[in-house]
Amino acid sequence: MSRYDVLIVGAGHGGAQAAIALRQNKFQGSLALIGDEPELPYERPPLSKEYLSGEKPFERLLIRPAAFWKERQVTMLTGRTVASVDPGGCCVTTADGETIAYRALIWATGGKARRITCDGHHLAGVHTVRTRADVDAVMRELPETGQVAVIGGGFIGLEAAAVLAKLGKHVTVLEAQDRVLARVAGEPLSRFFEAEHRAHGVTIRTAVQVECIEGGKRVAGVRLAGGEVIAAQMAIVGIGIEPAVGPLLEAGARGGNGVLVDAQCRTSLPDIYAIGDCTLHANPHAGDRMIRLESVQNANDQATVAAQTICGVEASYDAVPWFWSNQYDLKLQTVGISAGHDQTVVRGDPATRSFSVIYLAAGRVIALDCVNSVRDYVQGRRLVAEAARHDPARLADAETPLKELV
Ligand code: FAD
Repeated sequence: MSRYDVLIVGAGHGGAQAAIALRQNKFQGSLALIGDEPELPYERPPLSKEYLSGEKPFERLLIRPAAFWKERQVTMLTGRTVASVDPGGCCVTTADGETIAYRALIWATGGKARRITCDGHHLAGVHTVRTRADVDAVMRELPETGQVAVIGGGFIGLEAAAVLAKLGKHVTVLEAQDRVLARVAGEPLSRFFEAEHRAHGVTIRTAVQVECIEGGKRVAGVRLAGGEVIAAQMAIVGIGIEPAVGPLLEAGARGGNGVLVDAQCRTSLPDIYAIGDCTLHANPHAGDRMIRLESVQNANDQATVAAQTICGVEASYDAVPWFWSNQYDLKLQTVGISAGHDQTVVRGDPATRSFSVIYLAAGRVIALDCVNSVRDYVQGRRLVAEAARHDPARLADAETPLKELV
């Protein structure tokens, strides 16, 4: 049986950063990363952006080159799935039956793309966008595809729609809610992005229910409740993820929609930490509500905290959340968590394609969405960190730099 001082399960953003941070904190023990994808850790955000568009080759997505891991003596066990965890015996077992022992385990498994379950979900041409393999499959089929139905108007669906529209495809976004980005942003931002997509030739359909995907062997269209059929040779399903926590919960870890961790990223099981998309944590920037964040920031910052804790360095996870999304020539940068806001302030004119939406709860700034407005994003961070209280009229005045309000 092989044995490592620290075993990291999941070779994505969080897993890679945990290994990097352990070595940065002078951790000298044996260290391995085990991941079910065949690749070395790579950046996921470009999958729906520059990788899908063909602007960035895969080699430029690698978080670190192969030599980096070798030099730092990080053993890469790629292409292997952890099927079970034995917290009493301090070991995991892979789907192939290999048992690997650990002194500390970091669970960094992210999530699997949620699949659509309606009739036709299995047809050729139905895709999700979570892994390189997913996107390679999309790209292989693009030359034969003229019309694409994107199911789900969240960030990933909209980013894919933007790229595909630029590639000349006829794209229809199908969203069940009455606006896109409803789960993550306020109405002014949703309406802005809807208008942008329409201006680029994308059809945005909100408040629609997908009944089934039609076709023989391959997708021919998406049927909506009511009978209308949207013709498409490809369906991209972007309806969120399911945290990959099965083995950990079966081993007795507390959790549900994610594995529960404390501010040091410890699970309820001894010597088992968890980080990234798969964790449920009390976030101080969400009023200590238990949330699961899906962002590179959260994966990296939790990874650093877990690594420091293992190294005996005092650390606590309280980072201000941030996120970005690129669509067309628009760069959206988000800071804070807007869920729970009771007021929105639009700062600047969306018609100029450079503006911000500021979110307040009980008079305090809790988040900003900044479109092509790096200055607001940089200066607004402090307002979120300090949960600043300000007159909405002053916040709305784009002539007053936000730093003057800090
Ligand atoms: P992941 O990076 O998903 O890594 C988890 C790894 O563990 C995966 O390789 C998975 O296959 C593997 N794994 C799962 N179960 C097992 C198992 N049992 N055994 C072994 N291995 C396992 N975030 C942003 O902040 N900005 C963006 O613009 C942005 N764009 C995105 C675009 C796309 C298309 C996607 C998919 C995500 C995007 N995200 C973005 C989200 C961001 O990529 C994730 O939040 C981040 O990857 C989370 O890191 P993680 O380490 O928790 O999980």
